[in-house]
Amino acid sequence: MTELYKLSIFEAGELLRQRKISSVELTSAHLDRIRAVDDKVRAFTLVTDDLALQQAVEADRRFESGATVSPLTGIPLAIKDVICTKDITTTCGSRMLEHFKPPYDATVMQRLNAAGVVMLGKTNMDEFAMGSSTEHSAFFPTHNPWDLERAPGGSSGGSAAAVAAGMAMGALGSDTGGSIRQPASLCNVLGLKPTYGRVSRYGLVAFASSLDQIGPFARTARDAAMLLQAIAGADPLDSTSSARPVPDYSAALNGRSPIYRGIKGIRIGVPEEYWVEGTEPGVVEAVRADIELLRELGAEVSDVSLPHTKYGIAAYYIIAPAEASANLARYDGVKYGYSYRDTDDMWEAMEKTRQYGFGQEVRRRIMLGTYALSSGYYDAYYKQAEKVRALITQDFDRAFERFDVLVSPASPKVAFRIGEISDPYQMYLQDVFTIPANLAGICGISIPGGFSDGLPVGLQLLGNIYAEDVILRVADAFERVTDYHTRWPKALP
Ligand code: GLN
Repeated sequence: MTELYKLSIFEAGELLRQRKISSVELTSAHLDRIRAVDDKVRAFTLVTDDLALQQAVEADRRFESGATVSPLTGIPLAIKDVICTKDITTTCGSRMLEHFKPPYDATVMQRLNAAGVVMLGKTNMDEFAMGSSTEHSAFFPTHNPWDLERAPGGSSGGSAAAVAAGMAMGALGSDTGGSIRQPASLCNVLGLKPTYGRVSRYGLVAFASSLDQIGPFARTARDAAMLLQAIAGADPLDSTSSARPVPDYSAALNGRSPIYRGIKGIRIGVPEEYWVEGTEPGVVEAVRADIELLRELGAEVSDVSLPHTKYGIAAYYIIAPAEASANLARYDGVKYGYSYRDTDDMWEAMEKTRQYGFGQEVRRRIMLGTYALSSGYYDAYYKQAEKVRALITQDFDRAFERFDVLVSPASPKVAFRIGEISDPYQMYLQDVFTIPANLAGICGISIPGGFSDGLPVGLQLLGNIYAEDVILRVADAFERVTDYHTRWPKALP
């Protein structure tokens, strides 16, 4: 048998149910892999080995006793450190929460625990999910398994790198403006941002509440479908979660299923505005070839215009910091998190708490957001940005009247060197293709779409609200005729 850490979740699940492998074996293989390569990659902020083995033993007990099991029972996963895990440190990549142990589990964790998964640990991220490289972690940068001198993307870079390097079978991340799709693209894995409201945000440390969504990382479309299945659905603890029933995401991916129909006749739109200057030629070439392949598979491909795309970044960098400035006001040194105590002066305590607790990028966002919301500027910035947001949503509404899926690169660049992008504005531009989906609330996925000079290129598939099944179907069909997703990073033998 190949190394256990190279199996897909689906394959491992079959072997577990047939009792050909145990969860303890599977989990140990991943913990060994973490010990072997994570000193180079640094994907994890915390490895919960004792808990993982305990959960694996429990899963094996269920298989042995014939108790009910789920498709994810005994499967080892990694969790971005922005998701609250009861009594387990949840840092958010920040000094502010360096020692924070949440008193409760996020809803997604409750659901994964109920499904019987094994948690390997928490993954590194840009502080409070602000960034595109994982270099803004207060602790250390994560390295891209494909080239250890390069960044894995961000902000969920730890989760993407863990899955790419075989340290976890799948992972959860969060995507506010691209933080699942862009690192997936740079690490050659799949990363899915669900429709806003599809997955509960309860227990997700808030960055920009109207944009944040939790979603899965995986190495196959089927695995991504299984993970999404486990976490999606209404939650009374999140009033923005949708009551709409969750479909069976794997059904349409099973070649033996009577409803399987590949992607013949599916209508694919290629947004003209997404071929922007500054996108690397190697990325354009790979994505053009991917689009041709989709056409050969029977998709009807034509161009579409999303005229307000060019305002996406500007609107996002008003709205996201505005919401962040409000969400981060709670870290005042009083309620929880880091607290500066060496003074009797309240203002000094608050100032010093935030000076030490927050890194530069987080402070920049708070300043930007506070400014945009201040009474003299509210109309000029925040209100204007909300209007742009409505126009971008309208562009997508119109496009989805004629198309099922829109395709584009997921990122303008392949993995860049750690330290290469020092200008914050250049970093913001990494999300040019992913941000509009968050503004409109639609779903999107980045899938392995080829290589440019040996580095992975991600193909982004955007779907209408609640059309996760459709983008997964296209991802699955693409996977059946390509081998990009099966390749392993050469940097980690
Ligand atoms: N890179 C974007 C930002 O810095 C998006 C981050 C995210 O999706 N969490 O805001």
